[in-house]
Amino acid sequence: MNLDWTPEQQALIAEASRFAHDRLLPRDRPTAFDEAGWRACAEHGVLALPLPAAWGGRGEGALTTVAVFEALGRGGADRGLLFALGAHLFGCALPISRYGSAHQQARWGTGLADGSAIGALAITDPAGGSDLTLMGARALGGTEGYVLSGEKTLVTNGPRADVFLVIAATAPDRGPLGLSAFLVPRETPGLSVEPLGAPGLPGAPMATIMFKECGLPPAALLGPVGAGMKVMSSSLRWERSCLLAGFLGAAERDLQSCLAHVRARRDRRGPLLKHEAVAHRLARMKLRLEAARWLVYRAAWNIDEGRGVLLAPALAKLAASECLVDNALDALRISAGPGWLDEAGLASALRDVVGTMSASGTTDVQLSVIAASLGVEDP
Ligand SMILES: Cc1cc2nc3c(=O)[nH]c(=O)nc-3n(C[C@H](O)[C@H](O)[C@H](O)COP(=O)(O)OP(=O)(O)OC[C@H]3O[C@@H](n4cnc5c(N)ncnc54)[C@H](O)[C@@H]3O)c2cc1C
Repeated sequence: MNLDWTPEQQALIAEASRFAHDRLLPRDRPTAFDEAGWRACAEHGVLALPLPAAWGGRGEGALTTVAVFEALGRGGADRGLLFALGAHLFGCALPISRYGSAHQQARWGTGLADGSAIGALAITDPAGGSDLTLMGARALGGTEGYVLSGEKTLVTNGPRADVFLVIAATAPDRGPLGLSAFLVPRETPGLSVEPLGAPGLPGAPMATIMFKECGLPPAALLGPVGAGMKVMSSSLRWERSCLLAGFLGAAERDLQSCLAHVRARRDRRGPLLKHEAVAHRLARMKLRLEAARWLVYRAAWNIDEGRGVLLAPALAKLAASECLVDNALDALRISAGPGWLDEAGLASALRDVVGTMSASGTTDVQLSVIAASLGVEDP
């Protein structure tokens, strides 16, 4: 694994950081999906980056993509916008690029790459998201078409999405082998969207999506019948490996502002940074950040190399989400009273990152994946 960025990668990283600083740095905390930010990112080519050339994309690998997302976060992009972009790309567009039929790619590819169509991944059942066999949504039928009924909840981008990648049971008695994936356009008769409120990530709004006897043509199937687990695993692998890269960049930015704060703020003995307790807290933040960053790079590199489908994504996602929450708490400890104020943005950063412990599978689920792999080579 060679992590010397090529001159082309260095240019993409530097451009992304500059672009985020100049165009995305929010003056006020966003309260909703950032339409202008989304369009600016699309124009800058963020969405096209890892998508196929046939869609108008650049076909860059996962490692380059996470480096660019990290640079966007470091440059000042809002976490909600980064999460919305990531859910669209990693949860929906990339799996379509892999499993989509020629017809599906022609229908959605260009729009997903130029940002005129927004994608969402709809897996989670209201009865519980961790046990995938509990999938209540059913798509019954066959070669003549399917009738999709049920609900999906906590769907990021749900209130804005044009297309949903939905996992539903086509053979409910066959458990995971009876799941299939579908591409369901928002305007499908019987589909309705109920926006959800959440304490963080207002720029990545969520919704419950209800399907009331939605008629789907056979061409709505993404991949073969019964391939739902495969498609879902592909989405989750991309999400667990890459979705939090931008947040790590934003955490680096917060670390730098904590450092500036304790350099400038003084007690009678000098700058607060002189206190070992303060300096060590910053050192721990740096350690967590570096450890998470390398695991994310490793998981992304694995995607590019076609290896390590389970363990590396789980390690990356768990390390990144724990780092983000711990570092957000430490940033508040270090900045203390002034850090609590809205203008510091640190309390809202904590609200944004707490949800990462559950998104793309909870901490416990990642630990179970890691535990199951102990002593077993990740294929
Ligand atoms: C910010 C955010 C964004 C999200 N975006 C999306 C999205 O775009 N699309 C989508 O479909 N979903 C999305 N989700 C939902 C997310 O995938 C689920 O929250 C997650 O899979 C857990 O499901 P649950 O919330 O139903 O918890 P439950 O499954 O009810 O789990 C409750 C508790 O039990 C533990 N638990 C359950 N089963 C096990 C087990 N087998 N082993 C160990 N512990 C277990 C869990 O760790 C957790 O602590 C998002 C969630 C968040 C917070």
